[in-house]
Amino acid sequence: MIWLDEDMQSTLASRQRQDQCIEALHAFIKNESFDGDILRGVDPELYQELVMAENLDDARNRINNLIIRRIDHYHSDDCSVDDLERVNALSCLQALRNIISRRNEKRAGCSTLFEVWKIIQSEMEVPYQRRLMLIDFLFLVRGTLGKSGIYSEAAPDLSGHTSQEASRLRSDYLDTIANRCIGRVLTYSTGLDESVIRSREKQRQLILNVLGGDINDWYNYRWHLANILTDADVISQIIELSPMEEESILLAKKLGVQFGISPYYLSLMDPKIGTETDHAVRAQVIPKLDSLRVMAELKKTGSTKFLDFMKEEFTSPISLVTRRYPMIAIFKPYNSCAQFCTYCQRNWEIEAPTDGGRDPESIEAAMRWFEGHRAISEVLVTGGDPLILEDGLLQEMLDRFGGMRHVKHLRLGTRLPVVLPMRFTEHLISILVEANRPPELEISVVTHFEHPYEISPDALKSVQDLRKTGIMVYNQQVFTFENCRRFETVALRLALKQIGVDPYYTFNTKGKEETDHFRVPIARILQERKEEARLIPGLSRTDEPVFNIPGLGKNHLRAWQHHDLIMISPEGERVYEFHPWEKNIALAPTYVYRDVPIARFLQRMSERGEPIEEYESIWYYL
Ligand code: SF4
Repeated sequence: MIWLDEDMQSTLASRQRQDQCIEALHAFIKNESFDGDILRGVDPELYQELVMAENLDDARNRINNLIIRRIDHYHSDDCSVDDLERVNALSCLQALRNIISRRNEKRAGCSTLFEVWKIIQSEMEVPYQRRLMLIDFLFLVRGTLGKSGIYSEAAPDLSGHTSQEASRLRSDYLDTIANRCIGRVLTYSTGLDESVIRSREKQRQLILNVLGGDINDWYNYRWHLANILTDADVISQIIELSPMEEESILLAKKLGVQFGISPYYLSLMDPKIGTETDHAVRAQVIPKLDSLRVMAELKKTGSTKFLDFMKEEFTSPISLVTRRYPMIAIFKPYNSCAQFCTYCQRNWEIEAPTDGGRDPESIEAAMRWFEGHRAISEVLVTGGDPLILEDGLLQEMLDRFGGMRHVKHLRLGTRLPVVLPMRFTEHLISILVEANRPPELEISVVTHFEHPYEISPDALKSVQDLRKTGIMVYNQQVFTFENCRRFETVALRLALKQIGVDPYYTFNTKGKEETDHFRVPIARILQERKEEARLIPGLSRTDEPVFNIPGLGKNHLRAWQHHDLIMISPEGERVYEFHPWEKNIALAPTYVYRDVPIARFLQRMSERGEPIEEYESIWYYL
């Protein structure tokens, strides 16, 4: 269920009043208690088995037998459950089977079954710390009964109609779906909206007045780099800062955490707080207090290994090079950026802009490494942001790669179309055009827009200037709490296509402790893909949702054969076992990951004013 008109809302409200799963979820959100008896209401048979179980192994056997009985039923010829509910029920049974497995308990380091059995046996109120787990378990067992309830609408029944009538009926139904989608997309402003353009022009003038510049300075990227804003007093002359934002900026400075906003990017922020349109833009660059405190604690350990979630230290055969795949490797020639993203994967090593240059010996050694590794046909040049390099150095680097006959493709990873589009000068573009010599060497740009509000006429120009020369521009988005509402990422994809950028990857947020507030459950990224991205044309949803496994590389999230839900932790985190990308090619270790509890995510969404009933099917993305 995605969109609710009034009738649907009242039907849903009455159904929800009788639905114990939703009752438990709402109780949790309101911080109210509930007891284990709620499971009896959802699945009396499973509840009874747990009541009768004498110990954990007995409980395991009983639930196992119940799973077998249910699977047999769904495969029998007297099964009357709707086809799609049956498919979902079988998936839930598979997940339940995983969850009660001894092997998976060992792998996950916890036992959902033990916790649930204890709750049922105690006949007491569910302890606060276990509520998240029990809610997820309740939805799962409800799914095994073929009663997920996610299908409150049916596609029109076309039987008995002439072909033309059927076509019209189906077309009307598709119109309804499209219009709901368009309606939601339009609730997200983009920086191409006329009113936003006008407001930003005023902000631009204010910034120029405060910093003492003119319009020529504005279109000079060096002026922006020389005027990166790091001071809360100056920033607050241009935009209103919340007390929390102000404190964060001061604390970042005190702790030595990289912070800075390019004047251009500052112009994308609304002058006042609380407008609900620029939340993603602010969150991208103004750190959160909690996050800074965690970083400070982690840094105190004297080791960066806690911040290096991707375990790059184990995938760097030589300084400045990272290799996780057979034919592509990463080269990091510059270690700073025009400004710093608050959830940067390399936050443990990115330096201040003036310190970003690498020493020539390391660059030379890395180049020799690439020359000597003829299997590498593609290089992702990233950093930091390699396009901050001076034109001359960039040209040298491109020439050097151009001389390696085995390197066929260079991907330039840069956030400059988003944070400093004026960097794409005629001279820079001429350097890129010269290096772009298909079929010998193809250059493409991979950027990182996070929200439609980041798009602007200047961003459009920078992308179009590249595209006109034949250089493709792709986008890698991180799916975060700031862009995860219904159709928010669809709005981004459509806006990107409008300016000439092709969506490439959508990354699940990493389990980096210091960026916890950005994290969204994997189930939500899968739900977005199926229920939102699927509605728009194929050329606008070219991105692939991925989970980046530390030390191993990308796992394609929508491929069920690439991960298993193996447990729900006592704290309500789904525990996944991810398979390495080289599965079926070589034996390699799997990776166990604890996700964000779904009920906690929905609680945060509710606090933000989101109607959480619109996310109801999230539990069934396993
Ligand atoms: S542009 Fe990339 S490297 Fe630089 S701070 Fe952002 S995420 Fe990190």
